[in-house]
Amino acid sequence: MADQTAGEPSPDQRSGQANPSGSPIPFRRAHVGGKPPRRRIIVAGAGIGGLTAALALERAGFSVQVLERSQQSGEVGAGIQISPNAWRVLDALGVTPFVEEKASKPQAIQVNSVRSGGAVARIPLGREALKRFGAPYCVFHRADLHNGLMQAAESRPFIEINRGLALADGVEDEDGITVEMHGETGVSSSRAEALIGADGVWSTVRRRLLRLPSADYAGRVAYRATIPVENAPELANYTGLWMGKDAHLIHYPIASGRQINLVAVVDDDWREENWSAPADQEEVLSHYAGWPLAVRKLLERPESWLKWALCDIGPGTIWAEGRIALLGDAAHAMLPFMAQGGAMAIEDAWVLARCLADEPDVDEALMEYERKRKQRVERVVRSARDNARTYHMKGVMALARDTGIRYLGGQRLLSRYDWLYKWQPE
Ligand SMILES: Cc1cc2nc3c(=O)[nH]c(=O)nc-3n(C[C@H](O)[C@H](O)[C@H](O)COP(=O)(O)OP(=O)(O)OC[C@H]3O[C@@H](n4cnc5c(N)ncnc54)[C@H](O)[C@@H]3O)c2cc1C
Repeated sequence: MADQTAGEPSPDQRSGQANPSGSPIPFRRAHVGGKPPRRRIIVAGAGIGGLTAALALERAGFSVQVLERSQQSGEVGAGIQISPNAWRVLDALGVTPFVEEKASKPQAIQVNSVRSGGAVARIPLGREALKRFGAPYCVFHRADLHNGLMQAAESRPFIEINRGLALADGVEDEDGITVEMHGETGVSSSRAEALIGADGVWSTVRRRLLRLPSADYAGRVAYRATIPVENAPELANYTGLWMGKDAHLIHYPIASGRQINLVAVVDDDWREENWSAPADQEEVLSHYAGWPLAVRKLLERPESWLKWALCDIGPGTIWAEGRIALLGDAAHAMLPFMAQGGAMAIEDAWVLARCLADEPDVDEALMEYERKRKQRVERVVRSARDNARTYHMKGVMALARDTGIRYLGGQRLLSRYDWLYKWQPE
């Protein structure tokens, strides 16, 4: 994508398109000579997907208004793995200098089975991943990644981020879309050529504007916690996966190796639309009765836990209609067992910007974006569902699974992800 940055923004390009008077500001302005004003896009949601979309769109020549419902980042107390396919996009968008220092690069993924009583494979990462995929496999504290994206976006002249403004509604007409926003100062409106719904798994754009069904609860709950690395120094350099009956556990280092992130996933039907419901240790441990002592001891270490009801969106629903498109979890929330929800949002952002830059007809561009992304993302969604079954197997099924994993070995297990991690932004 060519960088079409067209010098400093004019005052009216930056003048808070959120118009408190309620009357929409036209986005096409007359211009005399010089470069035409940038085409304007509104992005709802300043999560990983929304911020990456803003950066990609700005780089492709658009001016972008990002609406974020919260005043502060909601990315607290947990980690996120960023695989090479996503890292390449962050690199191309100039984000990596903002986050590189905070990345940890685990040397391997150690796969353990409760049924087999310990390690069944060690999948090399670190240098091996870099050599194989041409980009590193990193893990972050979510807040570090999010802050880096925010700083990168705030450093760009044609991105305007409005915190504390929730997208509430939108009406399309022949040459644009007018959106309604709710904030502390009341209701306001803004206008653009297109609206991108990057507003997460419980998306307003998805449910209210596109009238699509909500994501489905998956009958799984993820408990998340972090501990200082001093409490578990033996876990500082690698990612661990423990698979067992009706549950699994993942741990990896985050925050430049200063903390260990724990994600304990269990079969459970608890439901709540909340990122950060508190949970107590007894509740977590009750799902791990009979597990190896080392695992139970690890689960006893965090002082607090948060829980999150897992959801996904099955194949078959649309992502784009008219001047509205969905991106990231709003389009394709997935189970986290491929560690790819954020990565797919990052890839989406790149492809979306490319489609809008290449095709002047907005409806056509957004449909092309959906066509280009869907097959790959649906493969990831299906793979995550397969892993959900595999990780929680019991009895002879678990033994057969462990034999298969041992037979394949770390190198071949890694090569099974070539299709995913070798993806390149065009
Ligand atoms: C346990 C767990 C582990 C995971 N691990 C990984 C991993 O290792 N690697 C990976 O790539 N992915 C992982 N994921 C998935 C990843 O977290 C998500 O896919 C990713 O955060 C989605 O980003 P998003 O920008 O689409 O949505 P979100 O991060 O949910 O951001 C949406 C934003 O929109 C805002 N918003 C909501 N409604 C409105 C509105 N009406 N108006 C304005 N703003 C609004 C929200 O406040 C929020 O800031 C994991 C998920 C879970 C649950």
